[in-house]
Amino acid sequence: MRTALSRLALDGGAPVRDRPWPSYENGDNFIAAEDEEEAVTALRERRYFRYDDRPYHATHNGRLNERISALLSSRHMLACTSGTAVIALSLFALGLPPGSPVACPAFTFSAAPSAIMLVGHRPVLVGVEDDLHLDVVHLRRLIEAENVRAVVVVHVRGFASDIRAVLAAADAAGIPVVEDAVPVLGVSFDGRPLGTFGAFGAFSTQADKPVNTGEGGFLVTDDSEAYARAVVHCGGYEGRMARHFPDGAPPVSDQDHPHFAWRMDEVRAALAHSMLGRLPQRLARHRRTYDALADVLDGHDGLSLRAPSAPGAYTGQFLTMRLDRARAQDSEWYAEALCAEGIKAVALGSTRRPNARAFWNWCYLVGSDAEAARASLPHTARRIDRIVDIPLSAHLTADDRADLVRAIDKVHAAWRRRCLSQGAAV
Ligand SMILES: *Cc1c(COP(=O)(O)O)cnc(C)c1O
Repeated sequence: MRTALSRLALDGGAPVRDRPWPSYENGDNFIAAEDEEEAVTALRERRYFRYDDRPYHATHNGRLNERISALLSSRHMLACTSGTAVIALSLFALGLPPGSPVACPAFTFSAAPSAIMLVGHRPVLVGVEDDLHLDVVHLRRLIEAENVRAVVVVHVRGFASDIRAVLAAADAAGIPVVEDAVPVLGVSFDGRPLGTFGAFGAFSTQADKPVNTGEGGFLVTDDSEAYARAVVHCGGYEGRMARHFPDGAPPVSDQDHPHFAWRMDEVRAALAHSMLGRLPQRLARHRRTYDALADVLDGHDGLSLRAPSAPGAYTGQFLTMRLDRARAQDSEWYAEALCAEGIKAVALGSTRRPNARAFWNWCYLVGSDAEAARASLPHTARRIDRIVDIPLSAHLTADDRADLVRAIDKVHAAWRRRCLSQGAAV
């Protein structure tokens, strides 16, 4: 029994689990009847555009605005078509000269560098430290060396970057920060909601995110003039921008800035409004699951989890495991072994399945020579190579958790044996 159990499924043994691992990619995740009701109500009203003869606060977008502003204690909010559009919109609203160098992490979803390029700026990649948070020492160096004009900081994989340190570096240089806070909606850092530290906070409501409207996103800011510019860029022309300011709009002309039509429609806004009501519940579930797993996995030799940059500044939507001294092929083996056991795991540095979070795969930016790209940030590349990542659905049960721990125990024991037999190579 014992040998049968410990023989890896990868080597023909019985897998720990044969039910599919609940993945955030399914989309049908944490949607309740009340969400459908609210969306159907909006459908039946047959007014799908947020700017019509209703006052803005009486629209579904307006109600969503109020709910998010209350949740995040931010003055302004604007719902848009996607998180990527929101990052771009924030950068447009900052009004930097075209071609400005803008810093972003080298380990993040490719939305950040893509949005910087969409605006016509030049991404400057900043390394990450051991826990995959932005390396603020490197950031400071690049701000000087590359004349960086703005920073897009990302709270990657649901762990907050050290936002205070990032802000201090940016403030010292007098440049603005845009927070890509997509993975940390509703999470606080030192008691303040993430996404409200920078000049703009960007969020997404795409199907993989904590509020799922299929596609969508929103920005928050306290800067009324920058907000007015963002509204105009988003498609708030012909007096529509002023609807966001019932007490009087700032002196921003809605003809001075190009219009991109990145507005959120009313049906999606209704859906998002409803789902936000259950966000605290969803976050609590993620946190419970993550903390229970972290407790058990902590003692595994050669495996560590990310340390939060402040107490509680994480969601726990992913189990991002670091394998000591692992090369990309080792992590790839580990992830494949977990997949064979029935757990959906990915090696972020995989060479066979290029991950959108590894900077050397951003060919549109770094060119097609991955080795040359890696050589520009070798420590960050090696840190990404060591990562095996597992999505943790909000619906994981105690049984799912037990399966995950059993699979990791099994694969990890085999990995340790592999390391020993390969000696100093690993
Ligand atoms: C998903 C994601 C985005 C992009 O959101 P979209 O709505 O898909 O454009 C941006 N940043 C991070 C960190 C993300 O995870």
